[in-house]
Amino acid sequence: MSPEPARAEIVVDVAAIRHNVRRLREVVATPATPDDRTGHLGRQDGAPGPSRAGTSALMMTVVKADGYGHGMLASARAAREAGADWLGVATIDEALTLRAAGDSGPVLCWLGVPGEDYGAAVELGVDVTAYSLAELAEIEHAAHHLRVTARVQLKVDTGLSRGGCAIADWPTLAGAARQAEETGDVRITGIWSHFACSDEPEHPANDEQEAVFREALVVAEEAGLDPEVRHLANSAAAILRPSSRFDLVRCGIASYGLDPAPGQPGTAEVGLLPAMTVRARLAMVKRLTAGASVSYGHSWTTDRDTTVALVPAGYGEGVPRIAGNRAEVGIGGKRRPIRGVVCMDQFVVELGDDTAEPGDEVVLFGTGLDGSPTATDWARAVGTINYEIVTRIGGRFTRRTVDSEESPE
Ligand SMILES: *Cc1c(COP(=O)(O)O)cnc(C)c1O
Repeated sequence: MSPEPARAEIVVDVAAIRHNVRRLREVVATPATPDDRTGHLGRQDGAPGPSRAGTSALMMTVVKADGYGHGMLASARAAREAGADWLGVATIDEALTLRAAGDSGPVLCWLGVPGEDYGAAVELGVDVTAYSLAELAEIEHAAHHLRVTARVQLKVDTGLSRGGCAIADWPTLAGAARQAEETGDVRITGIWSHFACSDEPEHPANDEQEAVFREALVVAEEAGLDPEVRHLANSAAAILRPSSRFDLVRCGIASYGLDPAPGQPGTAEVGLLPAMTVRARLAMVKRLTAGASVSYGHSWTTDRDTTVALVPAGYGEGVPRIAGNRAEVGIGGKRRPIRGVVCMDQFVVELGDDTAEPGDEVVLFGTGLDGSPTATDWARAVGTINYEIVTRIGGRFTRRTVDSEESPE
């Protein structure tokens, strides 16, 4: 990559994010097959809006948690350039940061706590989410005070049993939301829910949740609500479950090029490109004799003379401690195992009878195109998901944004 690589850095290629967002838009623009349920309830009457049956779903790129560790603003900009209709974030602060950076497009945030300062978000046209009557009342109060109409989306819990309005309370919330619209303080712009098992397309919870969502939409329609967008699908569902696309899909992990459902058929065909490469320069290379034990606790012992190299990054940077003796890194395009536990600042990899020079590049994980591991490989090795690997990486790594479309490396 660059001639003078940093000692330990995260490199994010925004061209990859643009590529992924474009690919995902193409995927969700593909009309559902005749076998797919249409997913456009209430639009058979030809009502206006972007959600008429047979048209493509809109695309939201989710940029919460600093863009899954890729940098929220750079990711958001790349996503918009590639045609993301919406951006999604968890907190009001994240939404305000997008606005402060000049993003004026549709933004949804979805995780408030009691006493949240809704005013600024409402004033800046950010869509906020209400899970409950109390939350709706808080938003209404903030909007009334500011004499603006808040854009509010309602989240219904269709079976994730996390946030969102319990199905038993849904008719009440929908009715209250309609009444609140009458005051002019709020407009219900969306109704949405979230899957529990979309990375397992055969899991029966998917059918159940989608059916409950459709029923919730009927209840909302009967209450007199006419939202702009209904949405249910995250990355995995957007790709693997066309019937769940409705008006909008919310793609986080896939926008960053990581497989939302590793091992499931259907996701590889999208041609996603991981945007994050984590790399460092080897701090040291040395020969160990047979019987030498490596790193704290001596959890690994050489069974022959072998060469090892020292990587200057550790759990202080979000490299999982248990990646020791499990995950691999790439050096010169070859995979090398991590030996011994990962320390706070450093870890050891084994080169065997090969050698390398101090200062040589080591790729912890990246695109996979050069034979190095991907974040998905690391996730599999340490028993987690690629989301957690990329989102937690940080610490003393510097982060650099490159654009391989502008300046191919
Ligand atoms: C994080 C999040 C998403 C994105 O999910 P991916 O699996 O990363 O596509 C979508 N919707 C909600 C509500 C989320 O919290």
